Amino acid sequence: MRRRLIVGNWKMNTTLSEARQLAQGLIQEVPPAGAAAVVVCPPFTALQVVAGVLPGSRVELGAQNMYFQPGGAYTGEIAPFMLTDLGCRYVILGHSERRRQMGETSELVNQKAHLALSSDLIPIVCVGETLPERESGAMQAVVQEQVRVSLADLVEAQLRSLVLAYEPVWAIGTGHVASPTQAQEVHQLIRAALPPAVAEEVPILYGGSVSPENVAALLSMPGIDGALVGGASLKATAFAAIVHAAG
Ligand code: PEP
Repeated sequence: MRRRLIVGNWKMNTTLSEARQLAQGLIQEVPPAGAAAVVVCPPFTALQVVAGVLPGSRVELGAQNMYFQPGGAYTGEIAPFMLTDLGCRYVILGHSERRRQMGETSELVNQKAHLALSSDLIPIVCVGETLPERESGAMQAVVQEQVRVSLADLVEAQLRSLVLAYEPVWAIGTGHVASPTQAQEVHQLIRAALPPAVAEEVPILYGGSVSPENVAALLSMPGIDGALVGGASLKATAFAAIVHAAG
């Protein structure tokens, strides 16, 4: 039985006081116990402030990215030990905004996934096709290749410790959520690209315009284990409603 997981990705939003306020709102609205695990991923600059607010709640801390080297002379980058030091348990890797805007490849995501796992961080590895890829019939090949390359050379125990997120690029921040059937179909394709011994154990989240209104239908699909939430995670009430739908 895979545990449900709801993850909020705050992206490049919030000042320190806004981050503190949002985290305080969340811990008031999200019941301290529940079936689903709950994670928020503030910007790096707000991790420490949010880490100070979360203890005593069930909301855990994650980061939106990390560098692929464990530390050293990499000006401007963030190493995994810095994230665990701040209390992060999760890290989002290969978000489509990073793949498209910062040129991150699945090979780089793979290096980061290896390092995250050896640094006591749970990677949330994102995959997903663009609209032209879907419309040209390349969706299956694109997504399965992203999964295979991003997870290359991870042993079964490592695969059991990570989370995948299917985020169709055309659904992110657009209000055009994938239908539950569309998402379920791709979640099955992703599972089929995993080694059979672990395929049923890896949680796969759906991300892309998830809202309190559409989340229940998505979570009713057997292959959808939770949600990666962007815009709606910036409002405590909306994010808490999504968590509530997940249990
Ligand atoms: C995301 O950025 O991961 C995301 C899913 O964003 P939104 O919910 O705003 O579509």
